[in-house]
Amino acid sequence: MTKIAFVGLGNMGGPMAANLVKAGHEVSGFDLSEDSVKAAAATGVRASPALAEAVRGAECVITMLPKGQHVIAVWSDLATLLPEGTLVIDCSTIDVESARKAHKLAEVMNCISLDAPVSGGTGGAAAGTLTFMVGGSDKAFASARPILEAMGRKIVHCGHAGAGQAAKICNNMILGISMIGVCEAFSLAEKLGLSHQALFDVASTSSGQCWSLTTYCPVPGPVPTSPANNDYRPGFAAALMLKDLALSQEAAQQSGAATPLGAHAAELYAEFEKAGHGGDDFSAIIRMLREKAGG
Ligand code: NAD
Repeated sequence: MTKIAFVGLGNMGGPMAANLVKAGHEVSGFDLSEDSVKAAAATGVRASPALAEAVRGAECVITMLPKGQHVIAVWSDLATLLPEGTLVIDCSTIDVESARKAHKLAEVMNCISLDAPVSGGTGGAAAGTLTFMVGGSDKAFASARPILEAMGRKIVHCGHAGAGQAAKICNNMILGISMIGVCEAFSLAEKLGLSHQALFDVASTSSGQCWSLTTYCPVPGPVPTSPANNDYRPGFAAALMLKDLALSQEAAQQSGAATPLGAHAAELYAEFEKAGHGGDDFSAIIRMLREKAGG
């Protein structure tokens, strides 16, 4: 049993903290939203009215917050609150620069730290089947592993500080680009009079095969569990895909990598969000492509 403080009990953090409780850890929680704190308390998390109280006596602090600025603000506050040697883990999806800055803050506190963003969405958070992409030292990774295993099924040590965030945004850049590619192929097939099922039967066993096609098919029918069969809800929101693509482009600019398709995918998702579809599943972008073709 480890004493864990969980900061950020939203759509992801709430169920993740609940799984830590289920695994037998003693979990205290803090969030700016009273509703989130109440919901977490119902799952056995000890509700704290302030960050200082949540982290008192904690051997490990986990943050699950919206953006880099929130993580830096909370980790800066932790500086005066944590004893040396505390394990601090950020599971939010944030820019690589902020992740590295957070590790530096932990170093100054003489704490050990990890960036450990996740994939698997709210379903994976509830089921405890998330994939963790982890950046940080071997020592921090070894201490964190049993804790992360209570919330996820696959835990990958990607390398040094920031490597977890790097893996997450590279993966999601592939996903954003490949989804648009698959949507374009279905749109073209429609114009050519080729049925969705025929394209799926060929491409799913040919060189066009990819996750966006075979697991998350953007048209209803071929994969009955994909969000397309449920009017593109729920799923992985287009707004979150746009966030991840924007992070990939920020990192590409800072590191000098050429990612022209990633840039174009970000532009298309920005257009989709601006048209009011940020809450739709990201595979619904096929509708915008059809509209561009006038039908
Ligand atoms: P959310 O908005 O539901 O939860 C974030 C929580 O952080 C909110 O409850 C908010 O009140 C709290 N918060 C903000 N600032 C705070 C502060 N200073 N102190 C304490 N609490 C604070 O967001 P989410 O969907 O849980 O996502 C969290 C992170 O996980 C994001 O970085 C997101 O990109 C990433 N992520 C989300 C999904 C998903 O499907 N929702 C999937 C993978 C990764």
